Amino acid sequence: MKHILHGRRRKFLLFIPLFIVKFLLAPLGWIFTLSLLFYTQTVVFDFAETRPFGGRNIFNPYQDTEGKVVKANFHAHSKAWGGFTNGHNTPEELIGSYHQKGYAFAGVSNYFAVNRLNSPLKVYEHGLNLMKSHKLAINPSSVVYFDYPLLQNTSQKQDIINRLRDQEALVVLAHPNFMKGHSEEDMKYLSGYHFIEVLNHYRTSDKEWDAALKTGHLAWIMANDDTHDIFREPTHRIWNEIYVSSDNPEAMLDGLQKGHCYGIQTVRGINDLRINELTVSGDTLQFDFGDKAKQVQFILDGIPYYTHHNGRGNILFPPDAGYIRIVASSEESTIYTNPLVRYGDYPPLMAAEFIPTLNFPQTYFHRFLFAAAIIGMILLLTGVRPRMRRRFRSGRKRQPAYS
Ligand SMILES: [Zn+2]
Repeated sequence: MKHILHGRRRKFLLFIPLFIVKFLLAPLGWIFTLSLLFYTQTVVFDFAETRPFGGRNIFNPYQDTEGKVVKANFHAHSKAWGGFTNGHNTPEELIGSYHQKGYAFAGVSNYFAVNRLNSPLKVYEHGLNLMKSHKLAINPSSVVYFDYPLLQNTSQKQDIINRLRDQEALVVLAHPNFMKGHSEEDMKYLSGYHFIEVLNHYRTSDKEWDAALKTGHLAWIMANDDTHDIFREPTHRIWNEIYVSSDNPEAMLDGLQKGHCYGIQTVRGINDLRINELTVSGDTLQFDFGDKAKQVQFILDGIPYYTHHNGRGNILFPPDAGYIRIVASSEESTIYTNPLVRYGDYPPLMAAEFIPTLNFPQTYFHRFLFAAAIIGMILLLTGVRPRMRRRFRSGRKRQPAYS
């Protein structure tokens, strides 16, 4: 009797690893193998050498701002893909709520889908990968469905930027700090993008923005809600204010690309700050953010440099510094300005203008490695299961010897 029980227990114990392999590990193994297929398209870049900003001149994006200021949000999710993605309101409900709050543009940026209601400005969110390396594509000619679905190195992140650029999109690095989707280390090298989403209700990515700016990658701020539910998530709290000369959407994009904009973060949707003055005379910066401003903080080459305790005044832009950006706050709101940048003989280049070069030998070597890994996985997945089954069967045949 004891022998029978012992035999049954042995059979049961053999069944556990078989069950794990067959029903848990094997499907995961196949998903992993299929995901690796995308990596056979991998590329390796040699990133261009960039230099920190410097020189006797100061580039001030607010020098020639004119016209009125409009509000815009480029990142919000509605119901999409049959409810598979996170978004709870209809596009009409979402856009309507923003227009009610006086926004000139309310973007519906669903994953891999341009919403027809966004016309004439199109926007969608790109990214289906483990570490939230997401981008917003503004006004693309078509949607890029390709992504590296598992982890991404800096070259693979650059490849996605390039693919979006190939579709004529303006590229925004979405919430870089969220799961380090675009880490400070990445930001030292990435280029080709136009904006960094520094303000987003999930994460503030000022460190990542400074990592880019400190290495001479000039990109303007973007500030968006990234709401998935207008009733349950902070919505109408974070936005872009853009100087425009006319009401058409092209004027808005033009203002954004020239840096004629700033990010706003509010406690409850009220902004009581504005840039009344931000001018440069010699090495002196004159500023005025209005009467409500309680403090004005100056960030110099990524480091807090000076805090002023009312809204107006002037400050020296040290001749050996690269850039200054300003964060002004009241009790209700905070303004994040674009950086004022030093340059020598030529105006500073934008990060969007740097093109890294493809390293062909490394690219094909890495593609070969991924192909070899796929073959290895297939051999493992198709070989392990019959062997386990054979072992299980042979274990069953020996049963009578124990009884
Ligand atoms: Zn999003």
